[in-house]
Amino acid sequence: MASIGFVGLGNMGAPMVRNLLKAGHAVAAFDIVPGALDLVPGARHAVSAADAASGADVVITMLPAGQHVRDAWLGAGGMAAAARADALLIDCSTIDVATAREVAGAVPQAFLDAPVSGGVMGAEAGTLTFMVGGTAEGFARAEPVLQGMGKRIVHCGDAGAGQGVKLCNNMMLAATMTVTCEAFVLAEKLGLSHQALFDVCSTATSSSWALNSYCPVPGPVPGSPANRDYAPGFAAALMLKDLGLAQQAAQQVGAATPIGAHALDLYRRFVEGGGAAKDFSGIIAMIREGNA
Ligand code: NAD
Repeated sequence: MASIGFVGLGNMGAPMVRNLLKAGHAVAAFDIVPGALDLVPGARHAVSAADAASGADVVITMLPAGQHVRDAWLGAGGMAAAARADALLIDCSTIDVATAREVAGAVPQAFLDAPVSGGVMGAEAGTLTFMVGGTAEGFARAEPVLQGMGKRIVHCGDAGAGQGVKLCNNMMLAATMTVTCEAFVLAEKLGLSHQALFDVCSTATSSSWALNSYCPVPGPVPGSPANRDYAPGFAAALMLKDLGLAQQAAQQVGAATPIGAHALDLYRRFVEGGGAAKDFSGIIAMIREGNA
């Protein structure tokens, strides 16, 4: 069992720490919001990010954005300086590819980017998917620790590759969801039933996770957010963040992503119109109103 430092005990980080403790690891945890430590009983309450990092075999961050990650490891957080020279450093936050590569190149220790999909439910259940960027040796060391929090651990390539795969995945998901919403609204106007559309498409060539698991109308998939007034699930604000990171990456490498750019525009309008805390499938209301 490993000794683990963990920084960032938010919606995702706190349940991830609980699963690490359940798996038998010793965890030193820290968050700038002191009350967050109450969410991880059994963990040592570190007094700073550097304190959580010092002495640990593996040090993990789960923070909001790239700037927090850079500050925590290289800046005021002082985590890389405090960590052991042979420690393995892992950032599980979703951040831009450039910052992931910058931090990996700047720290003296082995560093992996390992963003996740599966959301808060996956974090609670220990069923997250980890998309890992970094060396094969680092990946081999990380795998047994990540297995305590997830069920699929995939080595995607060198530094930044995990973030790259995550952004591509969410860009595809957003585009699929928005066109699925358009199809349901078109079907409504054609006088078709939601159920008929779902029954055919969920097993036909248009089948997708967006349709089959997060069906944007109530009824066909009882567990989808549409059945609880679009309570997330995966909040539209987080989808907007990831679409912004995807466009940033596309611009940096000169990739043309017009559908991704349009999805970003749609989600920006949905979030600015009050949809930030709704599940991302809730964008169907905006599309139905003809605002899209
Ligand atoms: P969150 O805002 O709930 O948690 C972030 C935590 O980091 C907060 O508790 C905050 O106090 C803490 N924090 C911020 N700066 C800090 C610092 N300098 N030192 C210590 N703690 C600090 O966010 P979340 O939903 O847990 O998401 C975390 C990351 O995971 C994000 O990058 C997000 O995009 C990604 N993600 C979230 C989901 C989801 O469904 N929530 C799914 C996949 C990926």
